[in-house]
Order: sequence, then C-alpha cells, then structure tokens
Amino acid sequence: MPISGNDLRELLERLGITDLNEGASTGVEWLECRGGIIQSLSPIDGIPLGSIRQASGDDYERAVSAAVQAFEQWRMVPAPRRGEIVRRLGDAFRSCKRDLGLLVSLESGKIRSEGEGEVQEVIDICDFAVGQSRMLYGLTMHSERPRHRMYEQWHPLGPVGVITAFNFPVAVWAWNAMIALVAGDTVLWKPSSKVPLCAVAAMKIAGRVLDACAVPPGVLNLVIGKREDVGDLLAADHRIPLLSATGSVRMGRTVGRTVMERLGRPLLELGGNNAVIVTKNADLRLAVRAIVFGAVGTAGQRCTTIRRLIVERSIRDTLVDMLINAYRQIRIGNPIDEGVLMGPLIDRHALKAMQEALETLRLQGGRILYGGEILSGGIYDRGAYVTPCIAEARNDFPIVQQETFAPILYVIAFDTFEEAIACHNGVPQGLSSSIFTRDIREAEWFLSHQGSDCGIANVNVSTSGAEIGGAFGGEKDTGGGREAGSDAWKAYMRRQTTTINWSEEMPLAQGIRFDLD
Ligand code: NAD
Repeated sequence: MPISGNDLRELLERLGITDLNEGASTGVEWLECRGGIIQSLSPIDGIPLGSIRQASGDDYERAVSAAVQAFEQWRMVPAPRRGEIVRRLGDAFRSCKRDLGLLVSLESGKIRSEGEGEVQEVIDICDFAVGQSRMLYGLTMHSERPRHRMYEQWHPLGPVGVITAFNFPVAVWAWNAMIALVAGDTVLWKPSSKVPLCAVAAMKIAGRVLDACAVPPGVLNLVIGKREDVGDLLAADHRIPLLSATGSVRMGRTVGRTVMERLGRPLLELGGNNAVIVTKNADLRLAVRAIVFGAVGTAGQRCTTIRRLIVERSIRDTLVDMLINAYRQIRIGNPIDEGVLMGPLIDRHALKAMQEALETLRLQGGRILYGGEILSGGIYDRGAYVTPCIAEARNDFPIVQQETFAPILYVIAFDTFEEAIACHNGVPQGLSSSIFTRDIREAEWFLSHQGSDCGIANVNVSTSGAEIGGAFGGEKDTGGGREAGSDAWKAYMRRQTTTINWSEEMPLAQGIRFDLD
C-alpha cells in the first residue's frame, strides 16, 4: 500500500523532520543557517517531504571550527570507549531501521527492502567499528641496533570530511563516519542535496545518542549546502586532512585535484562500469538471478550496477532470452508497494541522460533488445519511470565506455576467454566485476593477476550487494579508495614509526660512523 498523508506526517515526526529543517548540525546542536531554502520532493510521486535551510559559507565555518575544536578532546577518549559510543549509535539505528529505511525509500526511490537494507548497512558498520575500536593494531619490528625497540602506532588523524552521493543517502556516511569515530577523528558530512532529509534524520538519531553520552558538539557534524558555499570550501580546507568523496568521476577529478593541491588526502569512491562475464560453463539459472538484481536493482543507480554483460557467443541468445523473460516479470512502480522491484529514477535529469544514452547507442551502431521506454499514466506521470533496457553493443562504443546512471545493460558477445578478459578490463573504470562459471580454470584466471582489474572481483555472485567486512572501492577512474571493511581504518589514522634506544650507546643504522672522536 502506498503511504497515506497521515502516515507520512507521523513518520517524519518520529524522525524529527519538520516542515523547515536546518541544514547544519554539530551533532548535539542544530545551527540556525543563513543559506537559501531547498525543498525535498519524493522522486516517487513528487510530493514535498520537507524543506531545508541550507548552510551558508559562514555556517560551514562554524561547523568546521566545531569539528576542529572537538578533535582536541575526542582524540583523547580511549578508543574502546569511542567504540562503546558507536555501539550505542548502532543500537539507535537498529531501533529506527523501519522508519529511516522508509524515508530512504521515499527520498531516493529505492524499494522498501533496499531502503531498510541500507539502514542495515549502517548497523553493520557500527558493529564492525565497535570491534575495530579494540583492534587498532600497529606492528613491532626488530631493530638492527642492539637494545633498541621499534614499533609503529596509529594516532587519530583530525577532522575528516565526507561527501556522499544521492544513491546511498545514509550508508556511505556511516561507512566513513563510524570508522572515523573509533579512529578518534571528528567528522564533517556533506550529503547530496538530492536526499537532504535522510541526512537530517540520521543526524537526529545520532545526536540523541551523542547527547546521552555527553559527547561534546563538533564530533559528528552535518553541512547541507551549495557547492560554492560548502563543497568547494571543504575540498580546499587545509584543516581537513582526509576528504572521503563518493560520487561521479567528474566530481572526483575536481575534488581530488583540489585536495591534492593542498597535499591533503583524498579518498575517492567514484563511478563504475561493472561487467559480468558469463561463459558456456555457467549455471545460467544462477546467472540470470544475479544479473537481474545487479542490473535492475535500485533502478540501475548503484555504483556497482551491472552495466555490461560479456557473454560467450554460443550461449548468448539463450541467456538474452532468459533475461528478457525475467525483465518482463519485473514490477515497476511505487517502490513502497509490496512486490515492486523497481522504482523511479532519481529525477528528470537522470531520465534525460538515459534517453540520450540510448539515442547515442543507436547512432554508434547498437540495438535495443528490450525496454528503455518512458512509462506514463498514473504514478508514472509524477516521477521518472522507465522500463529497464537490454541492448546489443560493442565494448569500444564511446557510450559503453562511460557510466550512464540508469538501468541499461549492454550485451557484448565473446569467442575466446582472452577476448572476454580484455573486453572486461577495456574501460576506464574499475570498481566491481564478476564471472559466472563452474570451470575452476576460468574462475581462477579471472581472479589472477591477468584477470579482472577491479577492486572487487566475484565468482558466481553479482557485482552489486557488497558486505561490510571487505574493503570496498575500485581502481582506475573509480579513484582507488577503500572503505568500510578489512584494514580500511588505516586511511583514517596517522601512522607513526617509533624507535626507542634503551642502551648506553648511540649506534647509527646502516653501520654509519659519525664519531666526535
Ligand atoms: P555527483 O558526483 O553528482 O555528487 C556526489 C556528491 O558530490 C554530492 O554530494 C555532490 O553535491 C558533491 N559534489 C559534486 N561536485 C562537487 C564539487 N566540485 N565539490 C564538492 N562536492 C561536489 O554524484 P551523484 O549523482 O550524487 O551519485 C552518482 C554517482 O556516484 C555515480 O557515478 C556512482 O557510480 C557514484 N557512486 C560511487 C560509489 C562508490 O563507492 N564508488 C558509491 C555511490 C555512488
């Protein structure tokens, strides 16, 4: 059932969203902002969800000053104690999972289970970070000098900036923020202005915990604002030693350049152009399920969405028929409704970009095999609804080389396995990849040094739907950043190598003599 006006009002009230919300917070306080007002409209049916008074440049300055000041105290809180606060943050998100998940769906157009799944990611990274707070390990080394001890230790880095994209309105913030918190850093979050209320709601949930734990203002900060008032300042701000930025390759190039200019650290999580290789040795039933979820889920608006299907020529027609049959069964509509698997695109610009990509594909010699139409009538007229598209293409078409953030799956046939790998790696981006095969040689080749060149490589698993435990990120134009799992915490800390001399001599390394006599 679609949500009624009454239920929507109650939901927003429970999440602390009012008609007009401030766009900046220091975690426990909300700043009175002086920027312009923006309205958040649901991509589902265009209904207004609430308004935000954006941060001005001065408001940004107030938030960043709070983050700088709070760092002095926060870094001295023992890491396991910081972890305990993150545990309580995780509990708070657990208890709000349904409500916040529904808001994610309403503001980004994801289906209900994906909206809730996104909040589950927040909970999972909190759990992960709690454990990490007791495992900020450094190594010890054996010194070549007698009676010397060498080891490395990890210190908090400073206030960390986090820029997030519209398609994961809360999870990507949490991936960064929860690890940064246990690392002893303070956080300044600039979310996408396409999904500002999710950010406000997440900060309200977190703020209650910070308040109850007597955490000072400035540990977790939010700044919603225009590029010239917030984004540009954040990228150029030398008080922010690490800037994690998630979004398009274009954004990454601009932000990355500015951060490098001041010799800060950029952590870039940018666009993908993910492919699945399906060989004649694949279990096609499994492959179809994974491809449909990977290509159509979130209406093709995940960084890890499957954009290219590289299929062995002998099974191409069979697989395409199976996919078209599966695509026909996908219910497209209000993502809040039970059984709907695909909601709208985020806005009319995304719709236009998809239509232009399909037109370009035709001009470059491609052919639409299924879908790609704009839907109309009823709710379809109030949002950007399309049928997901399957198209025949060649890997070297310029349009295939770029990421179109929409549900378009390019089918590319191959004859030899070498050709499949070359085609797979023959794009500028390098985020996620997968192969469907039951042949161990093909699988191992794909995972070897001469196989997939992506940050994520899966076997018989879709390119999308990563878990928290592994480091997430990609190579080449995807930016090289890693976050969330494994040892990604190291990016949020400052490594210090220490040597202690407990002898009565002053020997030099490498046998160098420098005697005064
Ligand atoms: P976008 O690049 O338009 O915006 C992303 C964020 O960057 C927003 O908060 C935006 O306001 C901000 N921004 C843009 N230009 C900026 C600038 N010059 N200075 C400072 N901030 C700036 O991307 P989007 O449309 O919101 O999201 C879709 C894109 O994000 C896709 O390319 C997708 O692949 C990518 N993405 C990547 C990952 C990943 O982990 N690799 C995850 C999610 C999304």
